[in-house]
Amino acid sequence: MIPYSTQLIDEDDIQAITEVLRSSHLTQGPVVEAFEQSLCDYTGSKYAVTFNSATSALMGAYAIAGIGQDDEIITTPISFVATSNMAIALGAKPVFCDVKLDGNIDERLIERLITSKTKAIVPVHFGGKPVALEKIKEISKKHRLLVIEDASHALGSEINGKKIGSLSDMTIFSFHAIKPITTGEGGAVLTDNAEYAEKLRRFRSHGIVKKKFWNSDMVEMGYNYRLTDISAALGLSQMKKLDHFIKQRNEIAAYYDERFKGHKLFQTIPIPQNERSARHLYPITLIPGLHCPKEDVFAALHEKGIGVQVHYKPIHLNSFYIEKYGKQSLSVAEDFYRSELSLPCQQKMTIEDAVYVADNFLEILEEYRIKGCSF
Ligand SMILES: *Cc1c(COP(=O)(O)O)cnc(C)c1O
Repeated sequence: MIPYSTQLIDEDDIQAITEVLRSSHLTQGPVVEAFEQSLCDYTGSKYAVTFNSATSALMGAYAIAGIGQDDEIITTPISFVATSNMAIALGAKPVFCDVKLDGNIDERLIERLITSKTKAIVPVHFGGKPVALEKIKEISKKHRLLVIEDASHALGSEINGKKIGSLSDMTIFSFHAIKPITTGEGGAVLTDNAEYAEKLRRFRSHGIVKKKFWNSDMVEMGYNYRLTDISAALGLSQMKKLDHFIKQRNEIAAYYDERFKGHKLFQTIPIPQNERSARHLYPITLIPGLHCPKEDVFAALHEKGIGVQVHYKPIHLNSFYIEKYGKQSLSVAEDFYRSELSLPCQQKMTIEDAVYVADNFLEILEEYRIKGCSF
């Protein structure tokens, strides 16, 4: 199977982990700090606070921003559920804004969703393609809101030569196995705000402040959301390869772009000249005539060893959300869900793999365009 995304682990990664295992600190040691520093160096952000997942990092960012009971955040339904779940976990309500044809939040629709309860705008760089961050920052400034980016797909993505990670109040990355780099499980919040960084460090470690010798003080609620040095060693080693991974993924994507140009049965999502995508995903959107047979297309591709996936079931369509907030309708997001397929695009693939994917994909689409649905 050629998965839609996967990790690439080599001997240096294994060596780096082994070194930590032989050292005195498996956690709360120097490698976590070194990994955090490498994230700062790479993105140009002042502070990086690692967490044991992007989910806990999102919770930390929302919590220290003061997002709580009865507050609202404006976010996108085309994301993994963690983006909005963590706001709910703190007693806040996620307000979903519809998306554009590229799967990113539609910045033109944000302002009308702002209420006196809104605290933050939380965009997601879908697949690694940057959102309209300048416009979103303008809106947030006007209404005194925070911008907290869920950049789980976008470590290495750029807008006008500037890396995602240093461009808003807080930026969250995920280091889950299949994300742009991995620590197994892991995440981070990046910020230029010293006070936020300090609060985030407290939040991930029981709300405790160290005093003289054995004395410490628990000043506020906190958790154990720390990343281990074992995981951080993998992250630090992976950071050395990040640009190479992105280059590989972009070569696969460039092949697809060229091969699929002007295709009549689906659209690709081009990346503008002034942006770089980390290419966590290579999404395409099928024409309406192929929405119905999408399950068959999916199954036929898996049959051929091509591990396509669909990103995402819009969050508001999950039963938990329907029970809590009632049935909402966001037509572009729902259409996106009906039409989207993520084709394999990862650093382990060769161009021959991409040719295999493209050949089979085009052949199968043609077949089901004629056949229609099997159900
Ligand atoms: C993967 C992902 C998360 C959650 O990341 P974890 O590290 O698995 O907790 C959150 N948001 C988005 C957009 C993601 O893709």
